[in-house]
Amino acid sequence: MKFISTRGQTPSLGFSDAVATGLAPDGGLFLPETLPDFSGQLAAFGKLSYAELCFEFMRVFATDIPAATLRTIVDESYTTFADPAIAPLKPLGKNLYVLELFHGPTLAFKDFALQLLGNLYAHQCVVRRETINVLGATSGDTGAAAIHGLLGKPGTAIFILYPDGRVSPLQERQMACTGAANVFAIAIDGSFDDAQASLKEIFGDQAFRTHHRLSAVNSINLARVLAQCVYYLYAWLRLPAAERGNVEFVVPTGNFGNVLAGWLLQQMGVPIRSFKVATNQNDILYRLFTTGEYRVGAVLPSLAPSMDIQVASNFERFIYFNVGRDAERVREVMQTFKTTGAYTFPDFKRATFSASRTSDAEIASLITRVYREHGYIVDPHTACGFKELNPDRVSIVLSTASPAKFPDTIRSAIGVEPTHPSLEVLKSKPVVKHLLASTPAAIRAYIDRHAV
Ligand SMILES: *Cc1c(COP(=O)(O)O)cnc(C)c1O
Repeated sequence: MKFISTRGQTPSLGFSDAVATGLAPDGGLFLPETLPDFSGQLAAFGKLSYAELCFEFMRVFATDIPAATLRTIVDESYTTFADPAIAPLKPLGKNLYVLELFHGPTLAFKDFALQLLGNLYAHQCVVRRETINVLGATSGDTGAAAIHGLLGKPGTAIFILYPDGRVSPLQERQMACTGAANVFAIAIDGSFDDAQASLKEIFGDQAFRTHHRLSAVNSINLARVLAQCVYYLYAWLRLPAAERGNVEFVVPTGNFGNVLAGWLLQQMGVPIRSFKVATNQNDILYRLFTTGEYRVGAVLPSLAPSMDIQVASNFERFIYFNVGRDAERVREVMQTFKTTGAYTFPDFKRATFSASRTSDAEIASLITRVYREHGYIVDPHTACGFKELNPDRVSIVLSTASPAKFPDTIRSAIGVEPTHPSLEVLKSKPVVKHLLASTPAAIRAYIDRHAV
């Protein structure tokens, strides 16, 4: 299968090249040239384990990787999960389920994609007989998940920048206590935006980029979106037949990556009825789905920090379909948005989406309410999903992180402090972090010394 750019000015690429490239050279995002139709295979899919299902799904896209190799890559990616179901679907009440996506090594849903991406990168190193240096900036979860995707993988090194003192102590430990020689957790003297700006400049330096075979890790990678389709399918297949036609997935949303994956799966013939986009107080997507206007605002720090985003980087993939797969229109929309900070969709198709917005005060009271009503502890991101459940649908709320990652917020809401064995272990390990100035020169010099 070939993959095209949403902006239409990049030649189509095979799966491995599109994954290695990340952002298309024309500034667009990669999408399958045509979407497959899985509607005839759903009955057969129902019998598969998570890893088997992931393989059957990914092989349709990753046609340039031999099937047996892909099978090994997929199997390895999900043996690191602590729950045998990988993505257990738990009934909470009438017409209500939670899909627990936090049983991977860093206890957040990003492991689903980044475990797979790490193994795909390691595989490419072998095939191309090259090393690869992965570079990214994080305000928390993504960096930890990316690090655990590449931990100890031969031929790879990973450099993750984060603002010193501004990620949670547990998140820092997940990045800086791995003990792996190929992991470089870099605490920079500056903000997350400073880190992003330095990265942008480093990636803009073609010679440096080529010399170190630098690859970016960010939420727009094609492999991440496809890997995330699988748990929607797996969850849908676990439902009683009578409920399958009336499902609403409720998705705590920041960059629109997670919910986009579910929507793409619906476009591939899986009869999901609807999606609820659940935002925190950073509500650009809530405003979009209620008014048709996409307008950037200021980012406000919240109790659900992994959703503190205003420009949803994956949204461009949805725009592409929304404007009738017309790449020229995508370029116009993105240009208007870039110059004016807003775009109004004249004929916005909202039928399958609804949206909610949750303030910090509401997050705390939702954690309390879910605990009281169901005896179940949700993390602050997942809590946003419980704001307004549609009484006419079977709701599946995606649980994007373990509550144990946010002990302070949970304790102040319900007086109970959730723990997790893997986080307890981290507390006794030495923190190995590298302090750097946030300038491109300092970061470049550091990479020169440590790259593989
Ligand atoms: C990244 C993240 C989100 C937001 O996911 P998007 O794909 O950006 O919408 C929500 N919850 C948690 C815990 C996350 O780490």
